[in-house]
Amino acid sequence: MPTMPGDAPDHHAMALIEAHWSVDDSRSGSRLPDRSRFFSAINAFIGAPPRGDMQIAILVIDTATPNQYEELARVLGRDEADLFRDASARWISACLPAHTKLYSLSSVRFGCVLQVDTPSDFEETLDRLAYRIRTPDPAGWSIPVATSVGIGVACHPHHGADAAELLRAAGSGVHESLQSGKPWCAYSPVFDRASIRTAHLLRDLGPALTGDQFHLVYQPKTDLSTGRCIGAEALLRWNHPALGPIPPDEFVPLLERTTLVHAITNWTLGAALRQVALWRDAGLDPQISINASMRDLGDDHFAARLAGLFERHAVRPDWIDIEVTESALMKDPVRVRRQLDEIRRLGVAIEIDDYGTGQSGLSYLKYIPASYVKIPQVFVFQLASDRNDQIMVRSTIDLAHDMGLRVVAEGIRDEAALGWLREHGCDIGQGNVFSPPLEAVQFERWLRNARYSPFYSTNPQVVT
Ligand code: C2E
Ligand code: MG
Ligand code: MG
Repeated sequence: MPTMPGDAPDHHAMALIEAHWSVDDSRSGSRLPDRSRFFSAINAFIGAPPRGDMQIAILVIDTATPNQYEELARVLGRDEADLFRDASARWISACLPAHTKLYSLSSVRFGCVLQVDTPSDFEETLDRLAYRIRTPDPAGWSIPVATSVGIGVACHPHHGADAAELLRAAGSGVHESLQSGKPWCAYSPVFDRASIRTAHLLRDLGPALTGDQFHLVYQPKTDLSTGRCIGAEALLRWNHPALGPIPPDEFVPLLERTTLVHAITNWTLGAALRQVALWRDAGLDPQISINASMRDLGDDHFAARLAGLFERHAVRPDWIDIEVTESALMKDPVRVRRQLDEIRRLGVAIEIDDYGTGQSGLSYLKYIPASYVKIPQVFVFQLASDRNDQIMVRSTIDLAHDMGLRVVAEGIRDEAALGWLREHGCDIGQGNVFSPPLEAVQFERWLRNARYSPFYSTNPQVVT
């Protein structure tokens, strides 16, 4: 068991800690000593003469995310949110080893200092503590709202030399604990490397747009009943001058947190429509799908912008599909629905991308004016052997067909999955079994020379 600061009355640091907070008098989070006192306490502990191998550990505990707390205050009122904060403070105090002082760093963030005898015992203590803190207090707050709880730990001197560094490190630990769902996380420099990369990417997104670092690739889509390539999905690529290719799964979510999202979608739409116009002029007729970001659909002018771009590039709306994900609708359903209706009125087909991976459920199919449902690769990769995937994909195909929608499967990697999908009536397929995403010139060559899949023996292999 670690020794707690309160167990060491001879410790000279104790004299420097002004607030003497214990379980009994921790009635209100707002009356807890604040951040500046926490700073002083940490510095006092680490400035005290070392006692054997004893280490100082800083714990930072989040009882909810700031958004959850704001939501609580908005829905239930500020007084009720304060009661939640106070009940959390009481409960954490009760879970901490006796005489440990708790500090309030914000309405949802608390901190304390623990002394560590041996690391393995300390880990056990943290496990127990995290378990208790996460187990709701039966006599606590009367409204049983579930919030995210995260605990971060930083040890002196390994994770920081002073209070500021230790608090920052423990804060990184909390963030990691909340993100990963782990009960507690001790600081690791890996967390910083991830955030430094994120910071670099965020900083470099703007220059990338003007610096020719983005381009589009095209992944063929094939009509599964005939084996004929009917078009492609346009996919964004970012080639960072120092970090190399950045996967869209990494930079698109970042993009959605910046004001650049509309500029980059404009760029994507412009580049795709320009290319479509060139292909049509050359006598080719691929149907091109473009991914719309969640934020685009919350923009009241998105459909109007799209209409302007069709006119500028002399592209007919029915040559284009827009792919939208379920998460887009969940943010602001009324506004997004309005945009989708307008897009549909322009004559653009809508595809529901990654269907079934969000939390919106079946009502989504009724709500969106879609023409296609796209089955995500996670359900397709193991399709030939995974019975659960088969059940889900088969029922999605049947449901979509019954509702008059066509079905696209993405992530078809092998002939077995392709065979299964054909047998079960899936309409369109996309995946590496046909082709990975291609540069525009390669896709054009593909369209001209290999328009029919070789897996369809009755079809011609080469069309001129
Ligand atoms: P998505 O829209 O669901 O795109 C399909 C993803 O599945 C693409 O990944 C594609 O390369 C991949 N894929 C398809 N078949 C296979 C296969 O057989 N094997 C493997 N391993 N992968 C396959 P990509 O290009 O990495 O894009 C990832 C996600 O990034 C996209 O998922 C989309 O959500 C987003 N994204 C890509 N381009 C754009 C864009 O222009 N705008 C927006 N807003 N998002 C984009
Ligand atoms: Mg897509
Ligand atoms: Mg998808």
